[in-house]
Amino acid sequence: QGRITHGAIAIEHLDFAYLPGRPVLHDIRLHMAPGSFHGIVGHTGSGKSTLLSLLLRFYPAPPGAIRIDGVPLEGIAEESFRASMGLVPQDPFLLAASARENIALGRALSDEQVEAAARAAHAHGFITALENGYDTFLGEGGARLSTGQKQLLAIARALAGSPRILLLDEATAHIDSETEQVVQQALAELRGRVTIVAIAHRLSTVRDADRIVVLNHGRIAELGTHGEL
Ligand code: ATP
Ligand code: MG
Repeated sequence: QGRITHGAIAIEHLDFAYLPGRPVLHDIRLHMAPGSFHGIVGHTGSGKSTLLSLLLRFYPAPPGAIRIDGVPLEGIAEESFRASMGLVPQDPFLLAASARENIALGRALSDEQVEAAARAAHAHGFITALENGYDTFLGEGGARLSTGQKQLLAIARALAGSPRILLLDEATAHIDSETEQVVQQALAELRGRVTIVAIAHRLSTVRDADRIVVLNHGRIAELGTHGEL
C-alpha cells in the first residue's frame, strides 16, 4: 500500500455529492506542491469544509480523483495516512488536562517535541506565561484559555505529530485580529516544511498563501495570490 512521503496533493475532476442529485463540489482541479500554502475562501455552503473532509477521507471521494504523492487517496495505508495528516478543526476539543497533555494527546512525545510544536504554532509564549507553564491545568474544555489561545494550542497539537499535510478549517473565525496575525505568522513560517490547506473566513488570514482558491457553489471561481485577487 502507498505511503505519504512529500505531501503533494493532486485533485483532478473531483465531483462530490452527499445526496444523489445534489452535487456539492463540481470538477475541482487543484495541484498543491509539497510545502506549498493554499488558502480556501468562499461563502457559507460553498463546499470548503467538504473539500477538507474528502482530503481527510471522512467521506469517500471518487476513486483516483485525489492523489497524494501520486497515490490515490483510497490506496494509502491507514497508519501512514494518520501519521501524515494534521487537522486543526474549527472547534478544537480540549481535554481537562495540562497544556502538555493537550498537545501530546496521548502520543509518546518528549517534552522537547511538545515544546518545538508549541513554538512553531506560536503557542509557547502564552503557555510559559501560565503559572505552571506546560503543566498548567487548562480546566474543563480548556476553560482557562481564550478562543485564540485554544486555536494556537490546536495548531501545536496538529504539528506535534509532524504531519506532511496540515489542514485548517476556519481556524480564525472567532478570534481577535491580534491572534489572527499570530496564526498568519505561524503559517507563513511553516511554508516549505508542510503542505498547508487553510480555510479562512477573511482573505487577510491567508494573505501570505502561495495561492488562494475561491470556491463558489462548489466550483473554483478564482485562483491566485492575494495580490491577484
Ligand atoms: P461554511 O463556511 O458555512 O463552513 P462550507 O463552505 O464549509 O460552509 P460545506 O460545509 O462544505 O460548506 O457545505 C457545502 C454544502 O454541502 C452545503 O450545501 C451543505 O448544506 C452541504 N452539506 C455539508 N455537509 C453535509 C452532510 N454531512 N450531508 C449533507 N449535506 C451536507
Ligand atoms: Mg465549513
